[in-house]
Amino acid sequence: AATLGVMGGGQLGRMFVHAAQSLGFRTVVLDPDADSPAGLVAHEHVQSDYLDPAGLARLSAVCDAITTEFENVPATALTQLAASRAVAPAGSAVAVCQDRADEKAHFKASGVACAPHAVIRSAAELAFVPDSLLPGILKTARMGYDGKGQIRVRDAAELAAGFAALKGVPCVLEQMLPLQLELSVIVARGADGAIVNFPVQQNLHRDGILAVTEVPAPAVSAELQAEAVASAGRIAASMGYVGVLCVEFFLLQDGRLVVNEMAPRPHNSGHYTMNGCDVSQFELQVRAMAGLPLPQPRLHSPTLMLNLLGDLWFDAAGQERTPVWDQVLALPGTHLHLYGKQSARPGRKMGHLNITAASAEAARDVAQRAARLLGLPASW
Ligand code: ATP
Ligand code: MG
Ligand code: MG
Repeated sequence: AATLGVMGGGQLGRMFVHAAQSLGFRTVVLDPDADSPAGLVAHEHVQSDYLDPAGLARLSAVCDAITTEFENVPATALTQLAASRAVAPAGSAVAVCQDRADEKAHFKASGVACAPHAVIRSAAELAFVPDSLLPGILKTARMGYDGKGQIRVRDAAELAAGFAALKGVPCVLEQMLPLQLELSVIVARGADGAIVNFPVQQNLHRDGILAVTEVPAPAVSAELQAEAVASAGRIAASMGYVGVLCVEFFLLQDGRLVVNEMAPRPHNSGHYTMNGCDVSQFELQVRAMAGLPLPQPRLHSPTLMLNLLGDLWFDAAGQERTPVWDQVLALPGTHLHLYGKQSARPGRKMGHLNITAASAEAARDVAQRAARLLGLPASW
């Protein structure tokens, strides 16, 4: 059988491996961690650092095609692998997604509006930041996720203090936008340039981490959904992207759509596709990298996803516990996905619960009952 490799062994890699295996592929995961969720279920786990020549050599020796599940895998590793094997997405595309300054330049080049911003590479550049960007959010250009590496700043003094607190690394200052809601779109592009998309997701974040995804997006008009899908497609096409790409958007209070950021891989907001669509985002990644057909996905059931963070594994007194899965699974249309992580920590992504139903109202009703059983906020 053909063999597919993935750089990174987190939950995205694990769900990718499951999808690849059900299509008959052998799977290899490269990850430094002995207990990585994907390494535990793959046919082979290459336990090495992302830049270790021996690990990369093993991966390219046994794989027919290679992808990444980890946004911060060194882009140079992907470029090296591409010398001998098919790699999707390409290191050059991943590199754009890894740097907020390059990412925003790419949005602009693709004709998609993003937040007004300035790139700040040194303390000396603070003096040139226009006042119109304040209040704003200062974000490290690289390595941030789940709201980490971000500081909200009201004025020039807070900006200077924030830049120092982020250790003076290159940053992007974005104007603080008045958000109505957040949404995302997942597209998949084949090597032949054909693009398909999943329906638009409406996302709710809590403390900078995705909490709830709802599809169909209840508060986004058909016109705005079409605009988001078209923009995501242009963003993918203009960098010659191959594979699954997620693009996050803000819907502003004045009704304008603005792109936030993108992820060069399947995305947490796309987990609903595992039960709500006739093909999952992970299967599309497998198909795209293996050169298999990419049919347009179809939502067959309104679906809600609840993220299951490590907090649920602790009671009010801080004692570790197992969430009440039996009660949750007694509700109709509940699909539990746990990632096999060895230990729970507050804020750690441990799994997700998809709820499918015949109507959006029914899905929401069951999701709220499940949330109450689990001790999650039940209103959104
Ligand atoms: P992810 O885990 O999605 O990769 P991240 O750490 O890269 O997140 P962003 O998506 O840039 O962070 O921002 C996190 C959240 O902060 C957004 O989902 C949004 O709620 C809020 N936010 C970010 N930028 C802005 C902005 N310019 N104006 C208003 N809110 C913002
Ligand atoms: Mg991000
Ligand atoms: Mg984000």
